[in-house]
Amino acid sequence: MSSRRVRATVVLCSLAGLLFALAGPAHAAPSPASAPSPAPAPSPAPAPSPAPAPSTAPAPTATSTPLPEGPWPPDEILARPPAGVAPRSLAAAGPSTGCPAAPSGVQRTAPGSGKTVALTFDDGPGVTTPAILSILQRYGIPATFFNIGVNASVRPAYVRSELVTGMVIGNHTWDHPQLPTLSASGQASEMDRATAEQSALTAVGSCVFRPPYGEFNATTLSLAQQRGMAVWNWSVDTEDWKAGTSTASSWVERIYSRAVAGGSQAHPVILMHNPPAGIPATVTALPRIIDYYRAHGYRFVDLAGGTGQRASTPAAATTAAGLHVLVRNAAGNIIERTLRGSTWSGWSQLGGSVVGGPAAAATSSAGLAAVAIGNDNAVYRQTVSDGGARSGWGSLSGVTTTRPGSGVGPDGVESIVLRGANGQGYLRQRTAAGWGAWVPLGGLLAPYAPSVAATAGGVLTVAGVGGNHAMYVKTRSAGGAWSGWRLLGGSINSDVALSPTADGTKVVAVVRGGQNGYYSVVNPDGTGWTGWRSLGGSLASGPAVTRNGAALEVFVIGGDGRIYRRTATNGTAVTGWGGWGALP
Ligand SMILES: [Zn+2]
Repeated sequence: MSSRRVRATVVLCSLAGLLFALAGPAHAAPSPASAPSPAPAPSPAPAPSPAPAPSTAPAPTATSTPLPEGPWPPDEILARPPAGVAPRSLAAAGPSTGCPAAPSGVQRTAPGSGKTVALTFDDGPGVTTPAILSILQRYGIPATFFNIGVNASVRPAYVRSELVTGMVIGNHTWDHPQLPTLSASGQASEMDRATAEQSALTAVGSCVFRPPYGEFNATTLSLAQQRGMAVWNWSVDTEDWKAGTSTASSWVERIYSRAVAGGSQAHPVILMHNPPAGIPATVTALPRIIDYYRAHGYRFVDLAGGTGQRASTPAAATTAAGLHVLVRNAAGNIIERTLRGSTWSGWSQLGGSVVGGPAAAATSSAGLAAVAIGNDNAVYRQTVSDGGARSGWGSLSGVTTTRPGSGVGPDGVESIVLRGANGQGYLRQRTAAGWGAWVPLGGLLAPYAPSVAATAGGVLTVAGVGGNHAMYVKTRSAGGAWSGWRLLGGSINSDVALSPTADGTKVVAVVRGGQNGYYSVVNPDGTGWTGWRSLGGSLASGPAVTRNGAALEVFVIGGDGRIYRRTATNGTAVTGWGGWGALP
């Protein structure tokens, strides 16, 4: 993890002097003790699983036994000759931080209780990576991508897309050698060069490592553990790489049948690939593989211990026409619907084929602006008037590793925030004079979207999640003076949503912790925090929040993929929460 690294090559302005680690003490998880209501889950509880004993995985094989994983020689899966790639500074490749303690030995059983399955994609990124991410997004499930450093250097946007979509990125060495043939320093260099490349692209390190061909020795295990990385092989080998770029249905069937053979295990770890040239048959087989494990009661998990669902975070905004909800649909387009009075409109298309997003804010009483992430990792914006006029998508540039957050102040100034490629927060504002430049806000944020809100007194509040999963706020006074990042605490695993209270004097933050929603009310200067109060639920996404007159409206995606809404009375305080209700 390169917690103090700033790349000069990030497109966003980099001010090295402003970068500092958000390394405050981890605070306690949001406590459900102060829950205002029992808050029934917004989605059907997962079916009780018979939970077979998690000990049916195959016994570890001897370390000297090569396992087939990808073609030999390895240059067939490298996007360019490693010798032609300028090395990143290895100074960035320190131990990963924020990882669970790396266990010793080699792991082959998917984490989590009940029946769990881990999808893993090796040797990328490659041409099929976007299609795989799109399928995973459509299902709202996590996976782990064991990238090769050389391949990451060729397709940096895909690496960032893996992060934006909530996937875990693992280390699969710099150029895919047989590690046991290398000296200790050679093996260490393979790990560290891959980590340095990934850190330069995303400011996130790897907590998991997979040795090429599954081959390792005691040195490999020791080096990975020293770097905070758990070593993961697999228990189900689809041998999908043998299909190459063939689209023949016989290959699709072979990959499918080998993948679902893992249904005999309680915790299969499935090996698939997304090398530079891609494996189209894997893409074709993937939805059926997911359907199979879903139908058989498995929960999808990543290998870093994350079991949360990965639905896209919705967006919400309120204009004179009513209450607007926006989401990214299965095709990657942004769609919008409006609650007029008590009637929801149908969905209307904003298009885009975006990687992530949306966020939205009312730019006037009669229109909103939506923002989303393009496949170049830049921010795109589109305005939608209450009368139905749309501007089309226009680029606001930048390089983001999260969904953006947006807000509009009482003065009409529009603010967009994001996490840059270097992990810092960034702010761009539109005033009467037009768009300003992207301004670095410093910090080192976890890859969850920050959010922004302006209060009546002219104070701008930006909230983000630190590497310790706690919330931090940074404020700019009406006079323009920035505070530092202030720790508010919590244990957050979602994008942050912020809104002013109805009276405009305070800020409401809504997040997901575990699978539940939580909210907190805080003064614009970061003081007077109420602590986290539970909203319950079983959230598959981060929340969206908007001020709707004297109400505060929260929207999330539930575990069943439906959109749920919960409403509170929003005055100086936020009280009187109703229950979760699914949108019709
Ligand atoms: Zn491999």
